[in-house]
Amino acid sequence: MALVNDHFLKLADNYLFADIAKKVNAFKATHPRKRVVSLGIGDVTQPLCPAVVEAMHKAVDELSVQASFRGYGPEHGYDFLREAIIRHDFLKRGVHLDKDEVFINDGAKSDTGNFQELLRWDNSIGVTDPIYPVYIDSNVMIGRAGIYSQTDESNGDPTSINKKHGVWSNVNYFPCTAENQFVPQLPERRVDMIYLCYPNNPTGTVLTKEQLRQWVNYALRNDALILFDAAYESFIQDPTIPHSIYEIKGARRCAIEFRSFSKTAGFTGVRCGYTVVPKEVTAVTIDGSQRFSLNQLWERRQSTKFNGTSYVAQRGAEAIYTPEGRNQVRETIGFYMENARMMRESLVKMGYQVVGGENAPYLWVKTPNGQSSWKFFDEMLYGCGVVVTPGVGFGPSGEGYFRLTAFGQREDIEEAMERMKGR
Ligand SMILES: *Cc1c(COP(=O)(O)O)cnc(C)c1O
Repeated sequence: MALVNDHFLKLADNYLFADIAKKVNAFKATHPRKRVVSLGIGDVTQPLCPAVVEAMHKAVDELSVQASFRGYGPEHGYDFLREAIIRHDFLKRGVHLDKDEVFINDGAKSDTGNFQELLRWDNSIGVTDPIYPVYIDSNVMIGRAGIYSQTDESNGDPTSINKKHGVWSNVNYFPCTAENQFVPQLPERRVDMIYLCYPNNPTGTVLTKEQLRQWVNYALRNDALILFDAAYESFIQDPTIPHSIYEIKGARRCAIEFRSFSKTAGFTGVRCGYTVVPKEVTAVTIDGSQRFSLNQLWERRQSTKFNGTSYVAQRGAEAIYTPEGRNQVRETIGFYMENARMMRESLVKMGYQVVGGENAPYLWVKTPNGQSSWKFFDEMLYGCGVVVTPGVGFGPSGEGYFRLTAFGQREDIEEAMERMKGR
Protein backbone atom coordinates (compact mmCIF):
# COMPACT_ATOMS: atom_id res chain seq x y z
CA MET A 1 0.00 0.00 0.00
CA ALA A 2 1.42 3.35 -1.01
CA LEU A 3 0.67 6.03 1.55
CA VAL A 4 0.18 9.51 0.26
CA ASN A 5 2.31 12.43 1.51
CA ASP A 6 -0.50 14.11 3.36
CA HIS A 7 1.23 17.49 3.39
CA PHE A 8 0.21 17.72 -0.25
CA LEU A 9 -3.42 17.39 0.78
CA LYS A 10 -3.17 20.57 2.82
CA LEU A 11 -2.48 22.60 -0.29
CA ALA A 12 -5.42 24.53 -1.59
CA ASP A 13 -6.01 24.29 -5.31
CA ASN A 14 -4.32 27.05 -7.22
CA TYR A 15 -7.40 29.21 -6.97
CA LEU A 16 -6.13 32.54 -8.17
CA PHE A 17 -5.54 32.18 -11.90
CA ALA A 18 -8.20 29.48 -12.25
CA ASP A 19 -10.75 31.77 -10.63
CA ILE A 20 -9.69 34.64 -12.87
CA ALA A 21 -10.01 32.46 -15.98
CA LYS A 22 -13.43 31.24 -14.88
CA LYS A 23 -14.68 34.78 -14.40
CA VAL A 24 -13.19 36.01 -17.68
CA ASN A 25 -14.74 33.11 -19.59
CA ALA A 26 -18.13 33.76 -18.04
CA PHE A 27 -17.86 37.40 -19.07
CA LYS A 28 -16.84 36.51 -22.64
CA ALA A 29 -19.79 34.14 -22.97
CA THR A 30 -22.24 36.89 -22.06
CA HIS A 31 -20.39 39.70 -23.90
CA PRO A 32 -19.20 38.02 -27.11
CA ARG A 33 -18.51 41.30 -28.88
CA LYS A 34 -16.47 42.99 -26.17
CA ARG A 35 -12.71 42.60 -26.57
CA VAL A 36 -11.16 41.81 -23.20
CA VAL A 37 -7.79 43.46 -22.49
CA SER A 38 -5.55 41.81 -19.91
CA LEU A 39 -3.19 43.70 -17.66
CA GLY A 40 -2.89 40.60 -15.50
CA ILE A 41 -0.51 38.68 -17.72
CA GLY A 42 2.52 37.45 -15.75
CA ASP A 43 4.47 36.33 -18.80
CA VAL A 44 6.69 38.22 -21.20
CA THR A 45 5.35 38.96 -24.70
CA GLN A 46 8.35 40.25 -26.68
CA PRO A 47 10.31 37.70 -28.76
CA LEU A 48 13.85 36.53 -28.03
CA CYS A 49 16.46 39.06 -29.14
CA PRO A 50 18.51 38.37 -32.32
CA ALA A 51 21.77 37.67 -30.45
CA VAL A 52 20.08 34.90 -28.46
CA VAL A 53 18.34 33.43 -31.49
CA GLU A 54 21.60 33.31 -33.44
CA ALA A 55 23.47 31.64 -30.58
CA MET A 56 20.74 29.03 -30.16
CA HIS A 57 20.69 28.25 -33.90
CA LYS A 58 24.44 27.83 -33.85
CA ALA A 59 24.20 25.52 -30.83
CA VAL A 60 21.67 23.32 -32.61
CA ASP A 61 23.99 23.14 -35.63
CA GLU A 62 26.83 22.01 -33.36
CA LEU A 63 24.69 19.23 -31.95
CA SER A 64 23.77 18.10 -35.45
CA VAL A 65 27.26 16.89 -36.41
CA GLN A 66 29.36 14.14 -34.91
CA ALA A 67 32.47 16.23 -34.30
CA SER A 68 30.74 18.81 -32.11
CA PHE A 69 27.85 16.78 -30.71
CA ARG A 70 27.37 16.99 -26.92
CA GLY A 71 25.32 14.73 -24.66
CA TYR A 72 24.89 15.26 -20.93
CA GLY A 73 26.52 18.45 -19.75
CA PRO A 74 27.72 19.20 -16.22
CA GLU A 75 24.78 19.20 -13.77
CA HIS A 76 25.81 22.61 -12.45
CA GLY A 77 26.06 24.13 -15.94
CA TYR A 78 28.78 24.87 -18.50
CA ASP A 79 31.76 26.98 -17.53
CA PHE A 80 31.23 29.37 -20.44
CA LEU A 81 27.94 30.50 -18.90
CA ARG A 82 29.08 30.48 -15.28
CA GLU A 83 32.07 32.63 -16.22
CA ALA A 84 29.94 35.13 -18.18
CA ILE A 85 27.55 35.41 -15.21
CA ILE A 86 30.32 36.01 -12.70
CA ARG A 87 32.00 38.62 -14.87
CA HIS A 88 28.92 40.60 -15.91
CA ASP A 89 26.35 40.15 -13.15
CA PHE A 90 28.68 40.25 -10.16
CA LEU A 91 32.26 41.44 -10.74
CA LYS A 92 30.97 44.69 -12.21
CA ARG A 93 29.20 45.33 -8.91
CA GLY A 94 32.25 44.47 -6.85
CA VAL A 95 31.03 40.98 -5.92
CA HIS A 96 33.53 38.13 -6.27
CA LEU A 97 32.15 34.63 -6.77
CA ASP A 98 33.86 31.33 -7.48
CA LYS A 99 32.69 29.33 -10.48
CA ASP A 100 31.46 26.52 -8.25
CA GLU A 101 29.23 28.93 -6.34
CA VAL A 102 27.03 29.39 -9.43
CA PHE A 103 24.55 26.63 -10.30
CA ILE A 104 22.83 26.90 -13.68
CA ASN A 105 19.25 25.65 -13.63
CA ASP A 106 16.12 25.47 -15.75
CA GLY A 107 14.59 28.57 -14.18
CA ALA A 108 14.21 30.13 -10.77
CA LYS A 109 10.93 28.45 -9.90
CA SER A 110 12.61 25.04 -9.58
CA ASP A 111 15.32 26.18 -7.23
CA THR A 112 13.25 28.62 -5.15
CA GLY A 113 10.96 25.63 -4.60
CA ASN A 114 13.67 22.99 -4.16
CA PHE A 115 16.31 24.68 -2.06
CA GLN A 116 14.36 24.26 1.18
CA GLU A 117 14.98 20.49 0.93
CA LEU A 118 18.43 21.06 2.41
CA LEU A 119 16.91 22.30 5.67
CA ARG A 120 15.07 20.34 8.37
CA TRP A 121 11.29 20.38 8.26
CA ASP A 122 11.03 22.05 11.67
CA ASN A 123 12.85 25.28 10.81
CA SER A 124 10.65 28.34 11.11
CA ILE A 125 10.02 30.31 7.93
CA GLY A 126 9.11 33.89 7.16
CA VAL A 127 7.85 35.58 4.03
CA THR A 128 6.97 39.09 3.00
CA ASP A 129 3.23 39.42 2.44
CA PRO A 130 1.96 39.64 -0.34
CA ILE A 131 4.25 37.09 -1.93
CA TYR A 132 5.08 34.82 -4.92
CA PRO A 133 3.18 31.63 -3.88
CA VAL A 134 6.00 29.12 -4.67
CA TYR A 135 7.91 29.91 -1.47
CA ILE A 136 5.10 28.92 0.87
CA ASP A 137 3.68 26.05 -1.16
CA SER A 138 7.04 24.28 -1.48
CA ASN A 139 7.40 24.50 2.30
CA VAL A 140 3.91 23.11 2.77
CA MET A 141 4.92 20.02 0.81
CA ILE A 142 7.61 19.10 3.33
CA GLY A 143 5.39 19.87 6.33
CA ARG A 144 7.09 23.08 7.38
CA ALA A 145 4.20 25.51 6.96
CA GLY A 146 1.82 24.02 9.53
CA ILE A 147 -1.92 24.15 9.15
CA TYR A 148 -3.94 26.33 6.82
CA SER A 149 -6.81 28.15 8.44
CA GLN A 150 -9.30 30.04 6.42
CA THR A 151 -10.58 33.36 7.48
CA ASP A 152 -14.16 33.77 6.42
CA GLU A 153 -14.55 37.23 5.00
CA SER A 154 -17.50 36.27 2.85
CA ASN A 155 -20.12 37.69 5.26
CA GLY A 156 -22.35 34.80 4.35
CA ASP A 157 -22.14 35.53 0.63
CA PRO A 158 -21.58 32.12 -0.99
CA THR A 159 -20.20 33.70 -4.16
CA SER A 160 -17.44 35.50 -2.31
CA ILE A 161 -13.97 34.20 -3.10
CA ASN A 162 -12.42 35.92 -0.10
CA LYS A 163 -13.47 33.10 2.16
CA LYS A 164 -11.02 30.82 0.37
CA HIS A 165 -8.18 32.90 1.58
CA GLY A 166 -6.22 31.94 4.66
CA VAL A 167 -2.95 31.82 6.56
CA TRP A 168 -0.49 29.05 7.49
CA SER A 169 0.04 28.49 11.22
CA ASN A 170 3.85 28.14 11.04
CA VAL A 171 4.54 30.90 8.55
CA ASN A 172 5.64 34.31 9.78
CA TYR A 173 4.10 36.92 7.54
CA PHE A 174 5.86 40.28 7.21
CA PRO A 175 3.14 42.62 5.94
CA CYS A 176 4.00 45.09 3.19
CA THR A 177 1.25 47.68 2.93
CA ALA A 178 0.78 51.40 2.44
CA GLU A 179 0.98 51.76 6.24
CA ASN A 180 4.67 50.80 6.24
CA GLN A 181 5.46 52.13 2.74
CA PHE A 182 5.72 48.47 1.65
CA VAL A 183 8.92 47.98 3.64
CA PRO A 184 8.73 44.77 5.71
CA GLN A 185 9.60 45.06 9.39
CA LEU A 186 12.20 42.77 10.92
CA PRO A 187 10.56 39.97 12.92
CA GLU A 188 10.60 40.30 16.68
CA ARG A 189 11.53 36.69 17.25
CA ARG A 190 13.99 34.46 15.48
CA VAL A 191 12.98 33.10 12.09
CA ASP A 192 15.32 30.49 10.57
CA MET A 193 14.53 30.80 6.87
CA ILE A 194 13.48 34.09 5.31
CA TYR A 195 12.27 34.57 1.75
CA LEU A 196 12.81 37.98 0.21
CA CYS A 197 12.02 38.92 -3.39
CA TYR A 198 13.36 42.25 -4.68
CA PRO A 199 12.38 43.89 -6.94
CA ASN A 200 9.15 42.44 -5.64
CA ASN A 201 6.49 40.43 -7.36
CA PRO A 202 3.67 41.40 -6.90
CA THR A 203 4.19 44.90 -5.44
CA GLY A 204 6.93 46.12 -7.80
CA THR A 205 8.70 47.75 -4.85
CA VAL A 206 12.44 47.62 -4.09
CA LEU A 207 14.61 47.79 -0.96
CA THR A 208 17.35 50.35 -0.60
CA LYS A 209 20.84 49.19 0.30
CA GLU A 210 20.27 50.31 3.87
CA GLN A 211 16.96 48.44 4.14
CA LEU A 212 18.45 45.27 2.71
CA ARG A 213 21.43 45.63 5.02
CA GLN A 214 19.09 45.44 8.01
CA TRP A 215 17.87 42.02 6.83
CA VAL A 216 21.40 40.75 6.28
CA ASN A 217 22.41 41.95 9.73
CA TYR A 218 19.32 40.33 11.24
CA ALA A 219 20.24 37.04 9.56
CA LEU A 220 23.85 37.22 10.78
CA ARG A 221 22.74 38.05 14.35
CA ASN A 222 20.18 35.26 14.43
CA ASP A 223 22.07 32.66 12.41
CA ALA A 224 19.20 32.72 9.91
CA LEU A 225 19.23 31.98 6.20
CA ILE A 226 17.95 34.45 3.58
CA LEU A 227 16.59 33.05 0.32
CA PHE A 228 16.79 36.05 -1.98
CA ASP A 229 14.87 35.99 -5.26
CA ALA A 230 16.32 38.56 -7.68
CA ALA A 231 14.39 37.44 -10.78
CA TYR A 232 13.60 41.08 -11.62
CA GLU A 233 16.98 42.70 -10.94
CA SER A 234 17.44 43.70 -14.59
CA PHE A 235 14.41 46.01 -14.35
CA ILE A 236 16.08 48.22 -11.72
CA GLN A 237 16.53 51.75 -13.06
CA ASP A 238 17.65 53.59 -9.93
CA PRO A 239 21.46 53.22 -9.71
CA THR A 240 21.42 53.27 -5.90
CA ILE A 241 19.27 50.13 -5.58
CA PRO A 242 21.22 46.88 -5.02
CA HIS A 243 20.90 44.24 -7.77
CA SER A 244 22.37 41.45 -5.69
CA ILE A 245 22.16 40.75 -1.97
CA TYR A 246 25.92 40.15 -2.08
CA GLU A 247 26.41 43.88 -2.53
CA ILE A 248 25.74 43.92 1.22
CA LYS A 249 28.66 43.05 3.47
CA GLY A 250 28.23 39.74 5.24
CA ALA A 251 25.59 38.37 2.86
CA ARG A 252 28.02 35.71 1.65
CA ARG A 253 27.64 34.09 5.06
CA CYS A 254 23.84 34.04 5.22
CA ALA A 255 22.18 34.33 1.79
CA ILE A 256 21.32 32.27 -1.26
CA GLU A 257 20.39 34.20 -4.41
CA PHE A 258 18.10 33.08 -7.22
CA ARG A 259 18.28 34.63 -10.69
CA SER A 260 16.41 33.94 -13.89
CA PHE A 261 16.69 34.80 -17.58
CA SER A 262 12.92 34.46 -17.87
CA LYS A 263 11.93 38.08 -17.42
CA THR A 264 15.38 39.52 -18.22
CA ALA A 265 15.56 38.07 -21.72
CA GLY A 266 12.20 36.46 -22.50
CA PHE A 267 13.32 32.95 -21.46
CA THR A 268 10.02 31.88 -19.89
CA GLY A 269 9.69 29.27 -22.63
CA VAL A 270 13.41 28.57 -23.16
CA ARG A 271 14.06 27.85 -19.44
CA CYS A 272 17.34 28.94 -17.90
CA GLY A 273 18.34 30.62 -14.67
CA TYR A 274 20.85 30.18 -11.89
CA THR A 275 21.32 29.99 -8.15
CA VAL A 276 24.25 31.38 -6.18
CA VAL A 277 25.29 29.38 -3.12
CA PRO A 278 28.39 30.92 -1.49
CA LYS A 279 30.70 28.46 0.22
CA GLU A 280 30.48 30.28 3.56
CA VAL A 281 26.74 29.68 3.99
CA THR A 282 26.21 26.87 6.46
CA ALA A 283 23.47 25.12 8.37
CA VAL A 284 23.92 23.47 11.74
CA THR A 285 23.05 19.98 13.04
CA ILE A 286 20.20 19.77 15.55
CA ASP A 287 22.56 19.20 18.49
CA GLY A 288 24.46 22.29 17.42
CA SER A 289 27.74 20.40 17.21
CA GLN A 290 28.53 20.65 13.51
CA ARG A 291 28.12 22.99 10.56
CA PHE A 292 27.70 21.97 6.96
CA SER A 293 28.27 23.96 3.80
CA LEU A 294 25.05 24.41 1.86
CA ASN A 295 27.14 24.76 -1.29
CA GLN A 296 28.34 21.16 -0.92
CA LEU A 297 24.90 19.87 -0.02
CA TRP A 298 23.32 21.67 -2.98
CA GLU A 299 25.99 20.28 -5.32
CA ARG A 300 25.18 16.81 -3.97
CA ARG A 301 21.46 17.35 -4.32
CA GLN A 302 21.69 18.67 -7.87
CA SER A 303 23.98 15.89 -9.07
CA THR A 304 21.38 13.38 -7.86
CA LYS A 305 18.15 15.05 -8.93
CA PHE A 306 19.09 17.29 -11.86
CA ASN A 307 20.79 16.52 -15.14
CA GLY A 308 21.58 19.99 -16.31
CA THR A 309 19.98 22.70 -18.43
CA SER A 310 19.92 22.15 -22.17
CA TYR A 311 23.08 23.13 -24.03
CA VAL A 312 21.05 25.21 -26.49
CA ALA A 313 19.43 27.21 -23.69
CA GLN A 314 22.80 27.84 -22.01
CA ARG A 315 24.34 29.07 -25.29
CA GLY A 316 21.33 31.36 -25.68
CA ALA A 317 21.82 32.68 -22.15
CA GLU A 318 25.54 33.25 -22.77
CA ALA A 319 24.64 35.49 -25.74
CA ILE A 320 22.79 37.86 -23.41
CA TYR A 321 26.19 38.93 -22.10
CA THR A 322 27.69 39.87 -25.47
CA PRO A 323 27.69 43.59 -26.35
CA GLU A 324 24.86 43.08 -28.91
CA GLY A 325 22.93 40.86 -26.52
CA ARG A 326 23.20 43.35 -23.69
CA ASN A 327 21.95 46.19 -25.88
CA GLN A 328 19.07 44.17 -27.28
CA VAL A 329 17.97 42.97 -23.84
CA ARG A 330 18.18 46.50 -22.49
CA GLU A 331 15.95 47.68 -25.31
CA THR A 332 13.23 45.14 -24.54
CA ILE A 333 13.35 45.94 -20.85
CA GLY A 334 13.10 49.61 -21.82
CA PHE A 335 9.96 48.80 -23.78
CA TYR A 336 8.33 47.12 -20.78
CA MET A 337 9.41 49.91 -18.46
CA GLU A 338 7.91 52.49 -20.81
CA ASN A 339 4.66 50.52 -20.58
CA ALA A 340 5.00 50.72 -16.81
CA ARG A 341 5.69 54.44 -16.89
CA MET A 342 2.65 55.13 -19.06
CA MET A 343 0.38 53.06 -16.85
CA ARG A 344 1.71 54.68 -13.73
CA GLU A 345 1.22 58.17 -15.12
CA SER A 346 -2.35 57.45 -16.27
CA LEU A 347 -3.35 55.77 -13.03
CA VAL A 348 -1.95 58.56 -10.86
CA LYS A 349 -3.85 61.09 -13.01
CA MET A 350 -7.01 59.08 -12.45
CA GLY A 351 -6.42 59.38 -8.70
CA TYR A 352 -5.20 55.88 -7.90
CA GLN A 353 -2.57 55.23 -5.23
CA VAL A 354 0.19 53.40 -7.08
CA VAL A 355 3.52 51.87 -6.06
CA GLY A 356 5.99 49.94 -8.20
CA GLY A 357 6.48 50.27 -11.93
CA GLU A 358 9.71 52.27 -11.51
CA ASN A 359 12.21 49.49 -10.88
CA ALA A 360 9.99 46.50 -11.70
CA PRO A 361 7.46 45.53 -14.37
CA TYR A 362 4.63 45.44 -11.81
CA LEU A 363 2.33 48.13 -10.48
CA TRP A 364 0.56 47.62 -7.20
CA VAL A 365 -2.53 49.74 -6.88
CA LYS A 366 -4.97 50.40 -4.05
CA THR A 367 -8.58 49.72 -4.92
CA PRO A 368 -10.71 52.86 -4.72
CA ASN A 369 -13.13 53.39 -1.81
CA GLY A 370 -11.81 50.46 0.18
CA GLN A 371 -13.25 47.88 -2.19
CA SER A 372 -12.13 44.29 -1.86
CA SER A 373 -9.71 43.01 -4.49
CA TRP A 374 -12.30 40.73 -6.03
CA LYS A 375 -15.08 43.32 -6.02
CA PHE A 376 -12.78 45.66 -7.91
CA PHE A 377 -11.77 42.84 -10.26
CA ASP A 378 -15.44 42.31 -11.16
CA GLU A 379 -16.02 46.02 -11.66
CA MET A 380 -13.05 46.30 -13.98
CA LEU A 381 -14.10 43.28 -15.98
CA TYR A 382 -17.76 44.25 -16.36
CA GLY A 383 -17.20 48.02 -16.34
CA CYS A 384 -14.37 48.21 -18.89
CA GLY A 385 -13.45 44.73 -20.09
CA VAL A 386 -10.03 44.98 -18.42
CA VAL A 387 -8.49 42.09 -16.49
CA VAL A 388 -6.39 42.85 -13.41
CA THR A 389 -4.96 40.46 -10.80
CA PRO A 390 -6.66 40.67 -7.38
CA GLY A 391 -4.01 41.41 -4.76
CA VAL A 392 -5.53 39.12 -2.14
CA GLY A 393 -4.47 36.18 -4.30
CA PHE A 394 -0.86 36.87 -3.21
CA GLY A 395 -1.56 36.81 0.53
CA PRO A 396 -3.67 38.42 3.25
CA SER A 397 -1.92 41.80 3.02
CA GLY A 398 -2.80 41.95 -0.68
CA GLU A 399 -6.48 42.51 0.13
CA GLY A 400 -7.64 45.90 -1.10
CA TYR A 401 -5.00 46.02 -3.84
CA PHE A 402 -4.64 44.84 -7.41
CA ARG A 403 -1.60 44.08 -9.57
CA LEU A 404 -1.01 45.29 -13.11
CA THR A 405 1.84 44.03 -15.25
CA ALA A 406 3.77 45.94 -17.88
CA PHE A 407 4.40 42.86 -20.04
CA GLY A 408 1.55 43.56 -22.46
CA GLN A 409 1.50 44.98 -25.98
CA ARG A 410 1.59 48.77 -26.18
CA GLU A 411 -1.82 49.05 -27.91
CA ASP A 412 -3.45 46.94 -25.20
CA ILE A 413 -2.02 49.10 -22.46
CA GLU A 414 -3.15 52.31 -24.15
CA GLU A 415 -6.59 50.82 -24.76
CA ALA A 416 -6.91 49.67 -21.15
CA MET A 417 -5.92 53.09 -19.80
CA GLU A 418 -8.44 54.81 -22.09
CA ARG A 419 -11.20 52.50 -20.92
CA MET A 420 -10.35 53.02 -17.27
CA LYS A 421 -10.35 56.80 -17.76
CA GLY A 422 -13.79 56.66 -19.27
CA ARG A 423 -15.18 54.61 -16.43
C1 LIG B 1 8.68 34.83 -12.92
C2 LIG B 1 9.32 34.67 -11.57
C3 LIG B 1 10.41 33.83 -11.41
C4 LIG B 1 11.04 33.14 -12.59
O1 LIG B 1 10.65 31.86 -12.73
P1 LIG B 1 11.34 30.97 -13.86
O2 LIG B 1 11.14 29.59 -13.35
O3 LIG B 1 12.78 31.34 -13.91
O4 LIG B 1 10.62 31.24 -15.14
C5 LIG B 1 11.00 33.71 -10.15
N1 LIG B 1 10.53 34.41 -9.10
C6 LIG B 1 9.50 35.25 -9.23
C7 LIG B 1 9.06 36.03 -8.06
C8 LIG B 1 8.85 35.39 -10.47
O5 LIG B 1 7.81 36.22 -10.57
